[in-house]
Amino acid sequence: MRIDIVSVFPEFFDSLHVSLLGKAQESGLLDIATHNLRDWTHDVHHSVDDTPVGGGAGMVMKPEVWAECLDELLEVPATSGSAAGTEPQAEPGTVLIFPNPSAPLFSQAAATELSHVKRIVFGCGRYEGIDARVPQYYAQQGIDVAEYSIGDYVLNGGEVAVYAMIEAITRLIPGFMGNPESIVEESYTGDPLLEHRQYTKPATWRGLSVPAVLTSGDHSKVDRYRRDEALERTSRLRPDLIETLECASLDKADRKTLIGLGWEVSSVHPRRVEKKVDR
Ligand code: SAM
Repeated sequence: MRIDIVSVFPEFFDSLHVSLLGKAQESGLLDIATHNLRDWTHDVHHSVDDTPVGGGAGMVMKPEVWAECLDELLEVPATSGSAAGTEPQAEPGTVLIFPNPSAPLFSQAAATELSHVKRIVFGCGRYEGIDARVPQYYAQQGIDVAEYSIGDYVLNGGEVAVYAMIEAITRLIPGFMGNPESIVEESYTGDPLLEHRQYTKPATWRGLSVPAVLTSGDHSKVDRYRRDEALERTSRLRPDLIETLECASLDKADRKTLIGLGWEVSSVHPRRVEKKVDR
């Protein structure tokens, strides 16, 4: 996979060369290039921002600079007017992604889908963000454009969000992880459940023991314990995820556990049982 990152702080991404991401680049599985947006400016100050149209605080990133940069990276011929309905110009399999706190949440499902594309170009916003016409324009050019938030909070810039997305996407590329099994049983993978808690040796540490069943050697009991714990933790911490489970895919023991946790499991998705109020 080829990844291009455009930022006014490209040095932020220097650490992409360490650990598994570094190894993947050495082996040729990944090719990551960073670009400084200011290289596409023409004024002495290399300015990339301007005041918001309509007033308000802060500055907005200028569409002209972004367009010069993205036209070149995506090999889209520059146009002056409306270009709606034109054929895709970028290499098929390229996705242009803008991190944006006012966008749909990035998810494991999105990461999985993106792990199969040939190329991703990320555009990191700063200040109050990038002029909204930039993603609109490239979508009009037939480019596959996506905007994602990594959480309901506001960061200073898109760099941290892009870093998080790159880690989530690339670890799903076949051959990236030393042990491919380690990504099979994780949170949000398969069923949308939080993972059970993990322990290592010693079995007792500072007076705290691991659950006895984990040292029993009985694999089916261990599997059931972990599955029940995943259901319990998800029910308690992220009930919204339980509501997305397919009841038809639950086995008898799953149903028993969920009923015990206060869920009704006879419809398409589990539903919380209304608590009766004693009068
Ligand atoms: N004015 C924007 C708003 O209130 O929605 C905030 C802009 S933020 C200070 C600057 C840039 O940081 C954004 O353009 C985006 O690239 C990035 N950013 C900030 N928070 C983010 C989040 N939760 N997810 C993804 N990107 C984020």
